Amino acid sequence: MEQKKLVLCQSCAMPLVKEEDFGTNADGSKNTDYCVYCFKDGKFTCETTMEEMIDFCVPLTSNGDPYNSPEEAREAMLALFPQLKRWRK
Ligand SMILES: [Zn+2]
Repeated sequence: MEQKKLVLCQSCAMPLVKEEDFGTNADGSKNTDYCVYCFKDGKFTCETTMEEMIDFCVPLTSNGDPYNSPEEAREAMLALFPQLKRWRK
């Protein structure tokens, strides 16, 4: 059986599952690193810092899916985000 690797957006950590979840390159092809909300037509949709991105994502992910509280979400993101391509130093 083929094990499918979970792909996460390398900017906001959203799981990229469906074709339409993926961002687009300047030539219209799919970008396999970033989601459609972060990356469109070959560039990031907004210039932001990792801290701002975490602030934005916490309320979206802390109502039980996948995190149970804002504190839990923030802690998980502070561990995960520095490993993502966009924020890696
Ligand atoms: Zn994203």
